[in-house]
Amino acid sequence: MIMESNKIPQSQHFTTTWIAPGVCAAVGSEGGAAISNAGLIDLGGQVVVYDTFLTLQAARDLRALSEAVFGQPPRMVINSHYHNDHIWGNQVFLPEAQIISTSQTYQLITTAGGEEYQYYSANSKQRLQSLQAQLQETRDPEQRRQIKMWLSYYAGLLETLPTLEISLPTVTFEHALGLHGTQRSARLNVFDGAHTGSDTVLLLPQDGIVFMSDLLFVETHPYLPDGNPFLMLNVLQELSKSDAEYFVPGHGPVGTLQDLEKMIYYIEYCLEEASNLLDGNGTLEERINGLQVPNEFKNWGLSQFYQANIRFLCLGLNEE
Ligand SMILES: [Zn+2]
Repeated sequence: MIMESNKIPQSQHFTTTWIAPGVCAAVGSEGGAAISNAGLIDLGGQVVVYDTFLTLQAARDLRALSEAVFGQPPRMVINSHYHNDHIWGNQVFLPEAQIISTSQTYQLITTAGGEEYQYYSANSKQRLQSLQAQLQETRDPEQRRQIKMWLSYYAGLLETLPTLEISLPTVTFEHALGLHGTQRSARLNVFDGAHTGSDTVLLLPQDGIVFMSDLLFVETHPYLPDGNPFLMLNVLQELSKSDAEYFVPGHGPVGTLQDLEKMIYYIEYCLEEASNLLDGNGTLEERINGLQVPNEFKNWGLSQFYQANIRFLCLGLNEE
């Protein structure tokens, strides 16, 4: 499955997993400024990028990879959803590429995405300083690992923000779109409301590969509070019936069917934990703050999402 070549330029921000000839998952490295995963797909005649990372420096390495391996910059960029860690590298692929997303993702980049931009412009410096202070005080290796991840997030952002321009999609679509080259075809399918208002997956049916962005996290806690856990379960169940062999997540290494099943299990586990927490001593907030990450998810990245997920699910269950 994995092809290593000394012709492939190395990046400090991601590692490359070649899933098929011409199809690469760029998996964000711990300590790098990619933060999420991206895909590079040679359709034959034109190269497609699926998601563009958090920072310009990581996106530049992805563009360089396309130029080194395929002899050309990407002509199409897909924005799977509006979250900053998947689209802030967009401008690096201009002017050659068309940036493609659903109409709803386009809207969300201008609304909720604009708020993200304001927040990070105002707070990144201070967040970085407080994380540096936390690292000084923390001895627990797992906590240190998490703090270091967020340190590279904010350090990467501070490098990117001075020259960042939020580059909007130039082509929008509603439900599905086909992309065709001389070597292969890709299909974009859309799921509404699961991870964000609109999430686009990229399927390569001939290769048995699906790029799922944040509809899948592998060995990493997913982020549920911007979506709907029941719709996430529907998406995961639907895609697990496809005959694809490889599933590229938004965060974590390239997965298989087993990883989709693990994500289904995680969401069901959290739903049950949230429903149990609604009854008990003390306030709900105290019970949530007292939660430990269960052993089976202990080694997963982004562990602070665990409490955030449970809190979000408790609020939802409370409203029912
Ligand atoms: Zn996301």
